[in-house]
Amino acid sequence: MHVPFCARACDFCNFYQERPDRTGIQDYLAAMEREFALYPPARPFETVFWGGGTPGLLKAEDLRRLGRIIQNADTRHLREWTVEMAPGSVREDKLESLREMGVTRVSMGVQSFDDGLLERLGRPHTRRQVDQAIDLIRKLEFPNWNLDLMFALPGQTLTQWEADIRAAMEREPPHLSTYCLTFEEDTTLWVRLQKGQVHKRSEVEEAAFYERAWDLLASGGYGQYEVSNFARPGYSCIHNLNTWRMHEWLGYGPSASSQLGQRRWTNAHDLEAWATGVATARPARVDEVALTPNLLAQDCVVFGLRMNEGIDLCHLQKRYPDADWPALDTLLAQLVEEALIEVTEARWTLTRSGRLLADAIGSAVIGAMDADALAPAS
Ligand code: SF4
Repeated sequence: MHVPFCARACDFCNFYQERPDRTGIQDYLAAMEREFALYPPARPFETVFWGGGTPGLLKAEDLRRLGRIIQNADTRHLREWTVEMAPGSVREDKLESLREMGVTRVSMGVQSFDDGLLERLGRPHTRRQVDQAIDLIRKLEFPNWNLDLMFALPGQTLTQWEADIRAAMEREPPHLSTYCLTFEEDTTLWVRLQKGQVHKRSEVEEAAFYERAWDLLASGGYGQYEVSNFARPGYSCIHNLNTWRMHEWLGYGPSASSQLGQRRWTNAHDLEAWATGVATARPARVDEVALTPNLLAQDCVVFGLRMNEGIDLCHLQKRYPDADWPALDTLLAQLVEEALIEVTEARWTLTRSGRLLADAIGSAVIGAMDADALAPAS
């Protein structure tokens, strides 16, 4: 479920978001109730993920209203319910409400513990607020919680990055995500890049940041289960694993994406257009594609290789017998030859060097299997 409100836009972010106002939030909540009633899940779901935007920006009473949508559904198989929060908007009454309604996991966009770097990212919080928020999350005893960190930031040294990772580990979150900064078009940082005020790191520099994180987190007992994701045993994000394994999911709210049956789509990146579509039962969707076996197989390989569990090719070939597997064979053989992929007991996984090139390998897989993969939905 996508909650599209943020207090302000962070300098690096190009996610769809709006400034909140009381009427806008009430209209949004009413439209969410209607959208869920119009298109309810066809079977009991295992995970719920509230992302954004900043879901945690909503008041406790609004969180409870949104929560009732889930509570009134068939939750008998629900195993994980995540809510994303920004450190500056964490309050005890909100966390109490979330805990009471059954939320099991809080994910917090910390990005850095260094106030100077936070300011340079346009993040509206401080290290002190992060610690206050963590204290509350602990107090309310959420079964799982995550901190997001970012690296390769303008002006950030490897020593500063190491300090951030150590600071995060000292707080003992069960889950940690680490993301390399990307310069997304039309963000404040991107404009500064165009003006030459900040510089993009070289691949070699980025690799050093990645590897420093991998070594430190491993020494702290965090198992890597995806290029950017680490957890104590048993605390991986079930929702994300489901997505990366290309199962099904349903998105509600503006900008939310869904994959169901033979189709994949995204709701309009526009609160008003989405709400009008919901009100008239004519959903405003963009990027709707028909899911061919080749597209699903390709995504299973791309996202599967990013995970440390890798892919079981025999299993995938049985799942999608009509995909263009011969086209992939040559590429995989070449990647094994270059020591970027290794094969152990029928599982194909990226080596450490391969993991550093995960994006490029993903593009190569898409190039190899492309064919008619992105046929628009008719
Ligand atoms: S990073 Fe998160 S809080 Fe910042 S603008 Fe993007 S969605 Fe909003």
